[in-house]
Amino acid sequence: MLPQPVKASDITDENSAQAYLNQTIMTTFCRVLDSSRLPPDVVMKLLASALGQTYREVAAAHRDGGCPCGWRPQPGMDIEALRASLEDAAVPRRIDDLLSMTALGRA
Ligand SMILES: [Zn+2]
Repeated sequence: MLPQPVKASDITDENSAQAYLNQTIMTTFCRVLDSSRLPPDVVMKLLASALGQTYREVAAAHRDGGCPCGWRPQPGMDIEALRASLEDAAVPRRIDDLLSMTALGRA
């Protein structure tokens, strides 16, 4: 069974925000890949660059208390956290991690 598409109006917390972003970015990636005929690694780099540009623009809007939400960008730490999140999500999942797990209980 395919997962139900998440609509922007379904976003209520971090998990639903993540599901929405995953779905939206995959859809956008596939559209660009299909339309441009660029190789996947090139489109991935463009996607990562777009995320970096989004950070730069949002951080600039928050400099000197420019937004009432209170977030104070710390580019060094923020960019390192973005880099770590990218790496964490991108590394292949080790299937033997699951296979070596001991089954607890029975269904
Ligand atoms: Zn803000």
